[in-house]
Amino acid sequence: MDKAGHEVEAVAWAASGGTGFDCLIVGAGFAGSVLAERLARGLGQRVLVVERRAHVGGNAYDCHDAAGVLVHPYGPHVFHTNSAEIFGYLSQFTAWRPYQHRVLASVEGQLLPVPVNLDTVNRLYGMQLDAEGMKRWIASVAEPCERVRTAEDVVVSGMGRDLYNKFFRGYTRKQWGMDPCELDASVTARVPLRTNRDDRYFTDTFQAMPVHGYTRMFQKMLDHPNIKLMLNTDYREIVQLVPWRHMVYTGPIDAFFDHRHGHLPYRSLRFEHVTLPQAQVQPVGTVNYPNDYGYTRSTEFKHLTGQVHHCTSLVYEYPCADGDPYYPVPREENAALYRRYQADAALLDNVTFVGRLATYRYYNMDQVVGQALAAFQRLRQRQAAGASDVAAGAT
Ligand SMILES: Cc1cc2nc3c(=O)[nH]c(=O)nc-3n(C[C@H](O)[C@H](O)[C@H](O)COP(=O)(O)OP(=O)(O)OC[C@H]3O[C@@H](n4cnc5c(N)ncnc54)[C@H](O)[C@@H]3O)c2cc1C
Repeated sequence: MDKAGHEVEAVAWAASGGTGFDCLIVGAGFAGSVLAERLARGLGQRVLVVERRAHVGGNAYDCHDAAGVLVHPYGPHVFHTNSAEIFGYLSQFTAWRPYQHRVLASVEGQLLPVPVNLDTVNRLYGMQLDAEGMKRWIASVAEPCERVRTAEDVVVSGMGRDLYNKFFRGYTRKQWGMDPCELDASVTARVPLRTNRDDRYFTDTFQAMPVHGYTRMFQKMLDHPNIKLMLNTDYREIVQLVPWRHMVYTGPIDAFFDHRHGHLPYRSLRFEHVTLPQAQVQPVGTVNYPNDYGYTRSTEFKHLTGQVHHCTSLVYEYPCADGDPYYPVPREENAALYRRYQADAALLDNVTFVGRLATYRYYNMDQVVGQALAAFQRLRQRQAAGASDVAAGAT
């Protein structure tokens, strides 16, 4: 149901015919859509999904651009997971195209594999090391520190200062607008270093893209007679008008509480989308630019989607302070601020907070699906135990 004309009244009318909606879901991204599907199909609940944007899918939304190339308007999304359960769950709504993402970094005039591997080191320094040789070389350049505290400590102690300067320092400064020495170790805590020639960006068991795109997958998920969808609508416009018993909230947690403890800081991105009249520009899906230009990386979508087209479309990502909330800024004071909101949320029995914005954590898509499936289990147990949330909306 698109927001047009008297949509609010229409929904209120539809709802008022019976007992209203069992669940009001705020946000139609992964968190909201998985829960809508599970509650409707799994428990037979009547669900209203309210989405502020003009489309479903949240940040994973994809669409065809003016040239007809399938693109990701909110930045490239590559699906990967080690969970057979999560992959199996999503496979009910899409077929998959196997895809192994590869990333090269533009460093000193060369395009070198990322994560740093044997080839990266040999090509950068003109060496011919084997795996054992690389281990010894890394041990000779690494600068162990007593207490790994910052993002800089993680990388310098793991692979030395020169690789840190060439691959990480500039990228992290652009990405976060801060030097790695000012950021939590968690930012680079999982930066892998490979002594083999594996040049895949991810090593998960399941790596694939939805054959017809993410949006089609979301549409199938939400296609159920018990699910009503309102686009272009902030939930605050309808929350008092439509009767509901429980709310699943997937928007920013600080906004839910009117920023009563202050704003949770986020890093944002400006996306520059470009279409070119040639079949291919880059040798791989993504090229990182740690040291040059204002953008961190460029991604050419046809590598990800496998689409055959005489044009190609790329997106350049410019990190910035203002704009849509994308990355929670990993600093201890922000985690402490989130904990205050989390304590407020714990007092609300009739609202469940799910997803990356509602829990102020950077999560990959599969992790959000896992979080939503776990939330569903808890809601199912509540229903089995006979919990009856008090209607918080009107009537
Ligand atoms: C640039 C970028 C690239 C990424 N690439 C990958 C990747 O390659 N692989 C991967 O696994 N993950 C990737 N991710 C992470 C992925 O985007 C998230 O895991 C996923 O989108 C989270 O889903 P969600 O439902 O929690 O949040 P969202 O997708 O943000 O959905 C929340 C929805 O709630 C809506 N909303 C918020 N407030 C309101 C309101 N007041 N009223 C109504 N609606 C509201 C929003 O409009 C939004 O649509 C990437 C993230 C970014 C930023």
